[in-house]
Amino acid sequence: MSAEREEIAVVGAGLAGCLLACFLARRGYQVALYERRPDPRTGTVERGRSINLALSERGLDALRRIGLDGQVMADALPMRGRMIHPVAGEPQFQSYSGTGDRAINSISRGALNNALLTAAAALPGVRIAFDHRLVGLDPTTGDMTFETPQGKVAETASVVLGADGAGSAVRGQLLGYGVLTESLDFLDYGYKELTIPPIGGEFALDPDALHIWPRGTSMMIALPNPDRSFTCTLFWPTHGTASFASLGSPAAIEQHFATHYPDLPPLAPNLVDDYQHNPVGVLGTVRCTPWQVDGRVGLLGDAAHAIVPFYGQGANCAFEDVVELDRCLDECDDEWSAALPLFQQRRQADAEAIARMALANFVEMRDKVASPVFRTRKRVEHA
Ligand code: FAD
Repeated sequence: MSAEREEIAVVGAGLAGCLLACFLARRGYQVALYERRPDPRTGTVERGRSINLALSERGLDALRRIGLDGQVMADALPMRGRMIHPVAGEPQFQSYSGTGDRAINSISRGALNNALLTAAAALPGVRIAFDHRLVGLDPTTGDMTFETPQGKVAETASVVLGADGAGSAVRGQLLGYGVLTESLDFLDYGYKELTIPPIGGEFALDPDALHIWPRGTSMMIALPNPDRSFTCTLFWPTHGTASFASLGSPAAIEQHFATHYPDLPPLAPNLVDDYQHNPVGVLGTVRCTPWQVDGRVGLLGDAAHAIVPFYGQGANCAFEDVVELDRCLDECDDEWSAALPLFQQRRQADAEAIARMALANFVEMRDKVASPVFRTRKRVEHA
């Protein structure tokens, strides 16, 4: 660890922010980590908001560098392929690697966030301020304003890093100062979470797979959880005759799933309640430039480049950002005015590539994985 350095503010104690705090503290920085929510380790989980995610090698590599991979992977469930559920007939398994020895890992988002928070809090130099919502930032001085339960609080830092997610307030402040441009492309699809509980204490579906119900204009996926339940995510248009809004009664919900997802209702006793009470999340792609201003304010993770979730790479990408920023600081001798532009230069093209791939994968997952041509091609590739 290097000598003690100045205080850096990280806004957002989500996945990227907590990991970043760990990396910066390791470099000898004082880190103030500001989070708008209360401490998630003591509170309740928000209903129906993406409780698990697929962690791949890109994300694991980052965790390995701070020695957290073992703890996180202890509860991970490796998914070795896709299990395709047709409307009629038996589900079909498509291995991710022909040999079945490679997998992506289903992990609890909350447990991952908590593990990162605890790791950050344990490091000397890291101070975490919960219930601090950033509402003001002067990019020329690093002066910040936070709303807290006690009222408005003023803070300042020599460098402010926005890891505050797709709706980033840091990005919003830079936009307000006219030093950044952004484009937000929302899909006309949203997502809703549904649950398949364990049956007799066991998984109701094969836990070694990511389950997909491709239905053309809609799609559902399910990932296993350590408590032997599955979290299903239904993707469907938000408006129109065939959309979330079109199922207005319990009977209509039951009828829809019996027709289009017939293997689900027997496994999901709370289907109607979940459908009626879980929110519909929005899906979109965030692009902005620049990702930094004067080496004083920077953006990373979803704050810089949120993507649609169909490649399961948003968090993995955010973790890669942290590793790359750490590398840029190494190469620039911790000169932020050089490291932040270098970080953008190295990462922006990759972020754009995965944004496009994620959109393209939606078409593949909701449609092509079920086609006989695709299944044949996959078999040839894996032969
Ligand atoms: P976030 O996780 O959004 O964290 C931002 C943090 O900032 C939060 O704690 C928030 O409370 C805080 N914050 C926000 N505003 C303020 C403010 N004004 N002041 C202070 N704090 C603030 N990725 C994968 O890699 N694999 C997957 O399988 C996967 N599945 C997904 C499924 C769905 C349905 C969705 C929606 C996303 C999925 N993702 C997946 C993407 C992944 O969730 C995000 O890319 C990842 O969470 C980004 O991390 P982040 O830290 O940048 O942002």
